[in-house]
Amino acid sequence: MARQLKIEDIGKNPEQPLTHVELQELMPLPPPYDKLEDQPQWKEIKLEQKAAVESSLDDTIAVGFPRPKTKEEEEELVEKFLSGLRKLLTRENNWTFLQPLLLSLEHCAKCQTCNDACPIYIASGRNDLYRPTYRSEVWRRIVAKYVRPGGKYFGRFTQGNIDLNWTTIARLMELSYRCTLCRRCAQTCPIGVDNGLITHELRKVFSQEMGIAPKEIHQKGSMQQLRVGSSTGMSPLVVKDNIDFIDEDMSAKTGMTIKTPWDKEGADILLIHNAGEILAWPENPGAFAVILEAAGISWTLSSDLVGYDAINYGLWYDDFQLARVALKHAEIAKKLNVKKIVIGECGHAHKAIQVIADRVFQGEYNVRRESSMTLLRDIVFSGKIKFDPSKNDFPVTLHDPCNMVRLMGIVEPQREIVRYLCPQFREMTPHGVENYCCGGGSGFAIMSPYNFQDWRLAISGRMKLKQVLEAFADHPEPETKKYLCAPCSNCKGQLRDLFSYYNVWEKSGILYGGLVELIVNAMAEIKEPFIEWEFH
Ligand code: SF4
Ligand code: SF4
Repeated sequence: MARQLKIEDIGKNPEQPLTHVELQELMPLPPPYDKLEDQPQWKEIKLEQKAAVESSLDDTIAVGFPRPKTKEEEEELVEKFLSGLRKLLTRENNWTFLQPLLLSLEHCAKCQTCNDACPIYIASGRNDLYRPTYRSEVWRRIVAKYVRPGGKYFGRFTQGNIDLNWTTIARLMELSYRCTLCRRCAQTCPIGVDNGLITHELRKVFSQEMGIAPKEIHQKGSMQQLRVGSSTGMSPLVVKDNIDFIDEDMSAKTGMTIKTPWDKEGADILLIHNAGEILAWPENPGAFAVILEAAGISWTLSSDLVGYDAINYGLWYDDFQLARVALKHAEIAKKLNVKKIVIGECGHAHKAIQVIADRVFQGEYNVRRESSMTLLRDIVFSGKIKFDPSKNDFPVTLHDPCNMVRLMGIVEPQREIVRYLCPQFREMTPHGVENYCCGGGSGFAIMSPYNFQDWRLAISGRMKLKQVLEAFADHPEPETKKYLCAPCSNCKGQLRDLFSYYNVWEKSGILYGGLVELIVNAMAEIKEPFIEWEFH
């Protein structure tokens, strides 16, 4: 398979994958993960799956769109794509993102500086398909030739040629799900071109205009959240039951009386967790409750539909879905008359409600919102809780969730806490706004259809695994227990899968977990250790 691709190859040879990545081509990992024979094997797509769904990009399937049966169907889909593209480039249909989109569309100098910033491109062994610029350039050529006036005649001379057919669209659809929207490339571009935004806007055309999106983020994600109350499937009754159970467990573990308040009108804080925490990592919402109770904060959870789940997957693929979920959050905060919403440990939920929702929270809906990182920093340094940092005397490093750190600038509050409470804290290289994505960003952490899980763990998560191992290189032995603090639910989902895939707990003794668990573990008045050194 050719690793060197031309832009115009995207519309050619639909029966052949455009590229194929071999394990030996991938960026090497440090020992003991460096032996090829020990690498997890990549599942092949079955012949019947290839016949049923689009899979001609790279022998991997993320979206799984059914293959059109006739030429007419293909042409109809191409027309829909073009009409969506035209709408995307008008102010009335895309007032949210048009300005940065046009900047990115019109100003790339093709210097390729951004390529080396992309962890996916590097981890893939520098496969041309995964350059940040590949999908952007395809898109630019389509716009120049098929959307701009006179483009059929002049487009090929201004931007280069491209053939718009169903193969081009089908591959572009899959390719829009080979980028985590981490925007490391945008940060490095000397003229501010944002290839991550271009990927996001492509996903919008597929979802908003063609009804195409991965089922994990659409049907099972934002649709289920609006219908049932949470993308986890938890109804208000179930979530209350689960929190009751967590309260009992926390009371037993800490010796304190923990009773989570529900729907308390006039509370200072409406706390909204990523509801995945309640099911997968109950110690995290439990630790929040312990800290807020110990600090005497006036807070509440909401049992309204959507009010107990900060997830907002629309951020990654569909402005309408984003607005529907964000407005629910604002309505609930207003109904309860709370002073502000605080978002728990979830990066994308931070960005959805604190940054992007600014575009829809107008007038009375403009409720105050705060990150749990600043709230926790203020509590830890308020003197209201006594800490004994020697209880956290094990190696700790900190993962920076892209949405929270690079894309929002929340860099220091969580660092101030771990520097104070963790005597063996060490940074990863690079870190802060230069961080690498966990590899599960933009919805990937919850997407494992067909063989996509192999792709996201072998390629998109590879750089993060390398970084974590290097941060603990002074203690490679599994007997020394080490803690990777990741204050984001989606990142933890990806890290759980990544560590299981490579047996990181067994081989290296590295546990991942949240920030609040470290805080409670260091509370002087709690006698038993809060962190249980068990991988889950
Ligand atoms: S996006 Fe920016 S860094 Fe990348 S090729 Fe274009 S101008 Fe260069
Ligand atoms: S947004 Fe991140 S994953 Fe996507 S192309 Fe840029 S650097 Fe690569």
